[in-house]
Amino acid sequence: MMRVILALAATTTTALVAPSLRSARSPTRVRSIAENVAQTQETSRDKVMTFSYDTERERAYEKPTYKGTGDGMGGGDAGDEYDVVVIGSGMGGLACGAMCAKYGEKSIVLESHIKMGGSAHSFTKVHNKEKYSFEVGPSIFEGLDKPSLNPLRILLDVLDSELPVETYQGLAYWVPTSNFDGAGPVKYWRFQLGDVEAPGGFYESLREHASDGELAIKEFEALRNRLKTLGGSTTAVCLFNLRQDPGFLATTAGSLPYVATHPDVFADLPLTFDSLHKTVDQLVTEPFLRNFIDTMCIFCGFPAKGAMTAHMLYILERFFEPGCSYSVPKGGTENIARALHRGGAQFGMDISLNTHVAEILVEGGRACGVRLKSGKVIRARKAVVSNATPFDTVKMLPAQDALDPEMPGFAALQDWRQTLGTLPRHGAILHLFVAVDAEKVVDGKKLADHASWRAAEDETAKNPAHLIVQDWSRSMQDSQNLCSFFIPSLLDRSVCPEGKHVIHVYSSGGEPYEPWEQLEPGSEAYEAYKEERANILWEALENCIPDARERAEFHIVGSPLAHEAFLRRDRGTYGMAWAAGTSAPYAGLLKFTPIPFPFPNLKTPVDGLLRCGDSCFPGIGTPSAAASGVIAANTIVNVETHIAMLEETAKKDPMYKFLSPGPFQWLYRGLVSPLTPSKELRGSGVFQPSSGGRVSAAAEAASR
Ligand SMILES: Cc1cc2nc3c(=O)[nH]c(=O)nc-3n(C[C@H](O)[C@H](O)[C@H](O)COP(=O)(O)OP(=O)(O)OC[C@H]3O[C@@H](n4cnc5c(N)ncnc54)[C@H](O)[C@@H]3O)c2cc1C
Repeated sequence: MMRVILALAATTTTALVAPSLRSARSPTRVRSIAENVAQTQETSRDKVMTFSYDTERERAYEKPTYKGTGDGMGGGDAGDEYDVVVIGSGMGGLACGAMCAKYGEKSIVLESHIKMGGSAHSFTKVHNKEKYSFEVGPSIFEGLDKPSLNPLRILLDVLDSELPVETYQGLAYWVPTSNFDGAGPVKYWRFQLGDVEAPGGFYESLREHASDGELAIKEFEALRNRLKTLGGSTTAVCLFNLRQDPGFLATTAGSLPYVATHPDVFADLPLTFDSLHKTVDQLVTEPFLRNFIDTMCIFCGFPAKGAMTAHMLYILERFFEPGCSYSVPKGGTENIARALHRGGAQFGMDISLNTHVAEILVEGGRACGVRLKSGKVIRARKAVVSNATPFDTVKMLPAQDALDPEMPGFAALQDWRQTLGTLPRHGAILHLFVAVDAEKVVDGKKLADHASWRAAEDETAKNPAHLIVQDWSRSMQDSQNLCSFFIPSLLDRSVCPEGKHVIHVYSSGGEPYEPWEQLEPGSEAYEAYKEERANILWEALENCIPDARERAEFHIVGSPLAHEAFLRRDRGTYGMAWAAGTSAPYAGLLKFTPIPFPFPNLKTPVDGLLRCGDSCFPGIGTPSAAASGVIAANTIVNVETHIAMLEETAKKDPMYKFLSPGPFQWLYRGLVSPLTPSKELRGSGVFQPSSGGRVSAAAEAASR
């Protein structure tokens, strides 16, 4: 009986890894272009915004190409055959390639752009002969400074790769607080990570800014308590223990004692992947707190309505732990990608930049390699893993009429790609990159003469990260309502010259693509539209730097067309947008359980073709994308190899002990071992143990 319960526990806690089910197509309704745009013109707080196109039917849709991103014609130096070929060097692709190498699989990452990192790459602009470096995407990273539960940090430790960072503790908010339900005078407040009761901590902010501080505290505690058991499970089972085959029973067995001692976790399981707003609506009424929760969720694409509860569990548990902090990678965001690359390269991972994959080759129903834009073919012995968005992956599949209709899985492939190509997605993002001169005197003032800047620069409470909401009654997905900016130079002086600062301002992912598509880049109308739409970003920045426009050394507006070209994401999308609450198509066995799993599987109907990245569980964000890459790599190897990695990592830091599947693994190991990896992924990689040393940029340079 006990064994049945344990099996059930392991099954349910990790049911997302259930084998892919080749289900009949669940059609998704494609919005018309008019609908895509109309929903952004008058938004309201309670409506979930998503966009859609039929990528499969628009196979000829050509992305705009931009100078500076490469022509994609590289790959000449790459080998002809690998165990695993990964398309894309985003966080997911690098994680997958590096882990495959660690597992002894010969892997290569093929990246279309001349830079690695995907959404997390940086670019440099030379101005007056001096270099200014900007991140194009993510800026907020918690827990990279020391062993933590952030999958990105765990991965760096698995790979023994160093990532030097600076740290800070707070997020600056510029929001209407006098009228919590709509627009009002904008007020500044600071969300401080860590102990809620510490000076300047979250409870102090609630007491100062909420309409009823004590009520907000009570409700926040009730929310944390409600989700406590589920939240605790984040230290009972790690994303790194997951894999998409029956092997997960053995690799997640370490969570069984937690499940056995917390039986209420069963009752709460349906909440895990469900929309967070259902729990929030039951427990939180105080408007300031509700607003805060929505803004915490929005980085995964949705406010609480639509956001998966599992995403918030991490935040509710970790952001309030004493000692936790946000990190700024020294030398710019791209150093995360470089650290992953270094980690993988020591185990033999190859990377080829400026190498655009034109087609995924499918023979006899199996993905057997890729054809590059240059025409070169690279074959994959075990698997091809696409880190591109589903919309970009669909375009790489061979045309249906080029496939043999007798091929195994012919109909399933047609169905899958039509479904994938029409999945709802977030809109695009608008960017403003600004360099300001701190010393320039504008109306008699230097930058430091502004109190708002001094607050950001404060030695003890540095605020490089800012979030701005114009009007609480409008959607937080509305790109003209919510935006953020980040000033890495406040902590890392290497990103621009002395006396200057670099700032990346960006909208939420609800910018409609269509109006941009109709304009010719470089034309007068296009430039005018850029300035018009980016005005809201300037206004956001002026909260902190009132004379930002006069103080600017230069600025660049990055339109959705540029976002699409630089990040290689169809129509500049922020990502797939299946709002939590129902199961996504191809959600596997979970589709038929009370647990609504809002992601398609990593496995696809094509044998040997897997996906990873932020359209896969656990979703948008660098930690999630990296975790999905690790789960894909785990799925490619057998349980023994996977467990060797888990046991090795568990010994690296007390924080990582929970990765060990412990003695309970033996309940399942004999049973599931012959089933791993799935038969289409069989091969002979040999796990590569850590050398005990750390790979740093300096060590890498010395070994050359
Ligand atoms: C403006 C912005 C702000 C963000 N803020 C944060 C934040 O603060 N914190 C956070 O954690 N996350 C944040 N995110 C989200 C996070 O950056 C992403 O979720 C994550 O980086 C996506 O990683 P990925 O693995 O899905 O791959 P992607 O980054 O999408 O990379 C995919 C790669 O595949 C390549 N590719 C595509 N097609 C081909 C092809 N045919 N051939 C070869 N290569 C190809 C692309 O060039 C790209 O490099 C932000 C994102 C943006 C855009």
